[in-house]
Amino acid sequence: MEIQTIGIVGAGQMGNGIAHVMALAGYDVQLNDVSTDALKQAVELVEGNMARQVGRGKVSEADMTAALARIKTTPTLTDLGQSDLVIEAATERETVKQAIFEDLLPHLKPTTILTSNTSSISITRLASRTDRPEKFMGFHFMNPVPVMQLVELIRGIATDEETFSACKQVVDKLGKTAASAEDFPAFIVNRILMPMINEAVYTLYEGVGNVQSIDSSMKLGANHPMGPLELADFIGLDTCLAIMNVLHDGLADTKYRPCPLLTKYVEAGWLGRKTQRGFYDYRGDAPVPTR
Ligand code: NAD
Repeated sequence: MEIQTIGIVGAGQMGNGIAHVMALAGYDVQLNDVSTDALKQAVELVEGNMARQVGRGKVSEADMTAALARIKTTPTLTDLGQSDLVIEAATERETVKQAIFEDLLPHLKPTTILTSNTSSISITRLASRTDRPEKFMGFHFMNPVPVMQLVELIRGIATDEETFSACKQVVDKLGKTAASAEDFPAFIVNRILMPMINEAVYTLYEGVGNVQSIDSSMKLGANHPMGPLELADFIGLDTCLAIMNVLHDGLADTKYRPCPLLTKYVEAGWLGRKTQRGFYDYRGDAPVPTR
């Protein structure tokens, strides 16, 4: 099936990035969020990020103007009902995602494909609560969306081949690479990445190292482009904790227990870059470690 209009639910760091790449690839985008501030901020971010791409000669001025004109925002979820493809990229909480799909269902075209950008929640379970589990799958972008090459495509138990290949064509049109993952907690990338980040937080919690020594050890000692704590701040500590909880609950193995220090940062509202404080404090000119 031909996809032209894409509805994106959630205009946070992932939603704005998804809107950015979809509009540049020629899709018509409707971006929704419960927060009108988030919508306003998302458009400003897309404008700023695209302008940087123009500055670097990666995108032409004309393509940027055309892409920005393809992005419409709406605080009304049901406006997304006529989309060919919906990508849900709201907060990583199952009840939030479930409620979004429930509210959207009566307004959808019979052909609309529903997807979630969830980092960890069961696609099969989300799909089972809709009227179209065969047209439901995981569409998992990496952060920052305009830069990262990979998209994980996750089939639920009922996802049909037509749905998979329609989503795969979208990934191809974006010029990105799709990896097919089975629907088990956290899929491929986060199943491997999050326990490493959680272990870095344990290393901090137990005093084996401080923020700086842990991050520089992994950068210089393992050749990672970012340290694990810097990366956790970038992803969002609430998202990291939510993924660890999904791994812990879904696989029932104590090796996935979230570090109490990660929980404490989230309880403090220190969620990383998006709140200007996490393992680093970003409120000044340069990031300062908080431990
Ligand atoms: P975020 O906190 O930056 O943004 C979430 C947005 O969802 C907020 O703007 C919030 O207002 C909005 N929202 C909440 N409830 C809503 C509702 N009912 N309807 C519409 N909008 C609603 O989070 P994020 O980092 O963009 O993550 C979004 C999703 O993407 C999560 O499922 C997360 O697991 C996934 N994801 C995140 C990353 C990452 O690195 N941050 C990477 C891949 C996937």
